[in-house]
Amino acid sequence: MIKEKTVQEIFEIARVEDVIQDYVSLKRRGVNLIGLCPFHNEKTPSFTVSPAKNIYKCFGCGKGGNAVQFLMEHEQFTYPEALRHLAAKYGIEIEEEEVSSEQRLEQQRADSLFLVNEFARNYYQEQLFETDLGKSIGLNYFKERGFREETIKKFGLGYAPDGKDKFTLAAVNASYNAELLKQLGLTTNYGSDFFRNRVMFTIHNLSGKVVALAGRIMATDVKAPKYINSPETEIYHKSKVLYGAYFAKGPIRKQDECILVEGYTDVISLHQAGIENVVASSGTSLTTGQIHLIKRYTSNVKVLFDGDPAGIKAALRGIDMLLEQDLNVRIVILPEGEDPDSYLKKVGTEAFKDFINGEEAKDFILLKADLLLKEAGNDPIKRTGIIKEIVQSIARVPDPLKRSLFVKECSRLFEVDEDILINETNKAVAGQMKRREQERQIENRRRQREAARSEQDGEFPTMEPPGFPTEDPGYMPGEPPGFIPEQKSKRESSTGHEFQEKDIIRLLISSGGEVFDKEENITVAEYLLDNIEDVIDDFDNQLYKAIAQECQAMVASKTSISSKHFLNHPDQKIQVLAVNLMASPYECSENWATRWDIFLNQKDPDKNFEKDSHKALMYFRLRKITRISEKNMKKIKELSASGDHEEAIKYLTVQKKLNEIRNDLAAQLGTVVIK
Ligand SMILES: [Zn+2]
Repeated sequence: MIKEKTVQEIFEIARVEDVIQDYVSLKRRGVNLIGLCPFHNEKTPSFTVSPAKNIYKCFGCGKGGNAVQFLMEHEQFTYPEALRHLAAKYGIEIEEEEVSSEQRLEQQRADSLFLVNEFARNYYQEQLFETDLGKSIGLNYFKERGFREETIKKFGLGYAPDGKDKFTLAAVNASYNAELLKQLGLTTNYGSDFFRNRVMFTIHNLSGKVVALAGRIMATDVKAPKYINSPETEIYHKSKVLYGAYFAKGPIRKQDECILVEGYTDVISLHQAGIENVVASSGTSLTTGQIHLIKRYTSNVKVLFDGDPAGIKAALRGIDMLLEQDLNVRIVILPEGEDPDSYLKKVGTEAFKDFINGEEAKDFILLKADLLLKEAGNDPIKRTGIIKEIVQSIARVPDPLKRSLFVKECSRLFEVDEDILINETNKAVAGQMKRREQERQIENRRRQREAARSEQDGEFPTMEPPGFPTEDPGYMPGEPPGFIPEQKSKRESSTGHEFQEKDIIRLLISSGGEVFDKEENITVAEYLLDNIEDVIDDFDNQLYKAIAQECQAMVASKTSISSKHFLNHPDQKIQVLAVNLMASPYECSENWATRWDIFLNQKDPDKNFEKDSHKALMYFRLRKITRISEKNMKKIKELSASGDHEEAIKYLTVQKKLNEIRNDLAAQLGTVVIK
């Protein structure tokens, strides 16, 4: 037991931002720091760290706490482990208290599952090194694979002897609880050993604890699965564990790349050869949970496939999921008949590294296109099917710039007109966005329910929100008294334009008076208003329109625009809106990122209104021009239908101009044109 005095000292000295920065990259935003939440999947940072309060809070999933809680959650540490970790980090000497027998019991109960697994790991290891059968069957197998003794020990490899219940008896003799043995799946319900005559692999969690074991069969004459794993338990969730992640997490972060292989022995071989950023999805096909695990450390994944043509095609289907999670996926196909383990042995470490880092590492989408194309040959029906399939993959890529590159490349590969592919891709993107939007709405409702609940429970009483940004300004957890929530208009959720409109207004209110261009001596407000003059009547939201017009009047009368003016505005509605917009100054770019699937590289810096203004305008104009263009097209159709060709031609000229503007804007924004 750590003495209370030490615990206090740790709490006083530990800085939550220090601790979190070891795992999450944070950027300053006002008095807080923000980053992508490590506990849920998000593209827009809602994970907020307050150095002043020494706490963190995610406004996406609701997780929050201090440095100790972060470590417990993120690293799956127990409370004392988290304290010890912090003590080591800050060089605090730990004073221990005598442990009472009661405390010991409690601790044992908490750690008992891990302890039993650890006993099993040690037992199998002992069998491997110290029994004749272990040596001749198990150790021999590993040595044949080229594993060195230190590697075998590091990865906790072992041997499970044949026989009915050798292990179970040994465990019970060592006073381990028979019930726990069954719970962990080490012993069957009939009291016999689950793992028999198998070489054993240890599966660790991220903090290196033994969560499960796996065994590979040694007998060749028995009909049984080649590999078996511990069952799902309280401490083992297959879909959230990657084999080797404990050893690989540091190297993955350092190299900013994760290598994904299929087998346990592939992980171990590569690791032993010094390629340490490697994991395998143990006993399952890749799951979203496992992808989230990878995303904690990097967004670059390289998948190594055995050179087996039939297997590759099937495996490729699973990879789409990686794309959707915004990972950059490259694929390396090993020469036919080779797996990573065998190929490494054949060519040696350096050649292997060259191979997987060189030209053989192909972009996933292009590789898929290439493979499918070869298969389809010249059959036009098959080719159409393939295009549809590839388009679905491309549409999963969240970054529009990347998407348009893929479209270009595939149009070349397929010898298909780029416009057709753009069109198909946009359709697929729209379909997928619709699905995601539905998911987002469900998530929002859940979040709101949770917020309401935690308010009732008085959870997080020290947090007050104004300093904290939220993704959705309509929702402020734990709003302080006197804070009037902005009424969300129904239309806002149904039309996209209000997002752009709101952002223009946000910029006008928050930075309207700032100097935009020193040489020309114009303000942000002047710049913005100048550029939207022609579409100002086209605002969907009447309140925003009123503000824009008021700003116009102010500029005309040389009255300087300040946020104060709007924060103290006589019109209550405008005042409330101003408060809300000022409370989340960066809402704009980020909402667009999620809403329009457009990734902005430039976020943060405290005074970013120049770039913000520029982007805000382009998006605003793009939407408006698109709408005008639609109206115009309708007019052309009507006129043509009624035979008034002369008039139609006038509109056609306008249309041409509109298309030019639109494409120009889209090109600047790097988006695929939304038709
Ligand atoms: Zn979260």
